[in-house]
Amino acid sequence: MSKLKDFNGTIKYTDLEGQNLRSSNYNKGVFIKATEYNNNDKSKAPSVGPVVYIPILIFRTIDHYNLGWNGATGDFLGAWYKNSTYDNYRIVYVSIETGMVEGGTYHEHYAEPEFINAHGAGSLPDIDTHVEEIIIDTSFKNNDCLNDVFNKFSAGDNRISDYIGNFIPEGSAANLTLVTDDDFSDHFDPEYWSAGAVTSEPENYMITITFNTDPNLPSSVGNFSSIILATEFMHEMIHAEMYRKLLAHAQQPEIPWTEEFIHSLKNDFNGLADYYTRWWLERDPNLPATSAQHQLMAEHYIDIMADALSDYDDNQHSQEFYEALSWIGLKEDTVAWNNLSPEQQAYINSQIQNTMQNGPCTN
Ligand SMILES: [Zn+2]
Repeated sequence: MSKLKDFNGTIKYTDLEGQNLRSSNYNKGVFIKATEYNNNDKSKAPSVGPVVYIPILIFRTIDHYNLGWNGATGDFLGAWYKNSTYDNYRIVYVSIETGMVEGGTYHEHYAEPEFINAHGAGSLPDIDTHVEEIIIDTSFKNNDCLNDVFNKFSAGDNRISDYIGNFIPEGSAANLTLVTDDDFSDHFDPEYWSAGAVTSEPENYMITITFNTDPNLPSSVGNFSSIILATEFMHEMIHAEMYRKLLAHAQQPEIPWTEEFIHSLKNDFNGLADYYTRWWLERDPNLPATSAQHQLMAEHYIDIMADALSDYDDNQHSQEFYEALSWIGLKEDTVAWNNLSPEQQAYINSQIQNTMQNGPCTN
């Protein structure tokens, strides 16, 4: 593109956290429409298309005035401009997307902005110019308890940390959003009301984990301690990882739930192929997509989860304790649970119940 009249595409305005501020669309250089975003709309930017980011620094300065009064009468005489001092800055990025390829995934870094300050104050702090690949909604970020769980798993050395990391690398086909919902009972069907969180299957490459913060539901994460939140986070990250694998194999924005697709998984992801064959294709295709995942998790992931939870919790408790918590969400209609002895089930249930009765996280 060399002339504006040849420009077909979108100009996007985002801030450093990938938060969309505005986008405007052009067709043959003609402005078509603009979209203003409200505060919570975020996306991994760019979604599609080769992108050039143009950083724009916007400075805020404070103008200072001398005020004058008549000493004899006390009358206000006026204000005289004295000087301006630097107060703050904000960075807005403008990106231009052209030549979009449908289904393409792109990974970019922001250009490091140059610091030009007419008022000569200070220097720019280190800026992470990496485009966010995991989208942490403000609602999640503002929940200190959940945010701490995420940060601790991110910094950890366990399988869940690895799963978080899988959403980061260049060319990752899947994106992940973490969000909380105060109106969980309005937005989800009653079958989910007992869940602390729900992982939605990919839509347009986006996998969303929604945490239940609905004050009207006893299952709200607001009622539980950090270790329970960590267990729920871990459980949902395994769903997210399974969806990520399915999406990576599909090479499409959504998972094509066909028999051929399930069979085609065999070479790449034999476990998923096996469980989706036995627990979905050979059963009721109307079962939720998570049923096969729960069977797989109950059979093969208890040790993985117990180890991850132990790492998260700095090994404060026994391995049996972490194993017991890992069963949360996996006891209903799973073969692995039904194969446990009544004594094992009773031990696990008592550990879960005791831990759930601990006071809520109060960070
Ligand atoms: Zn689940």
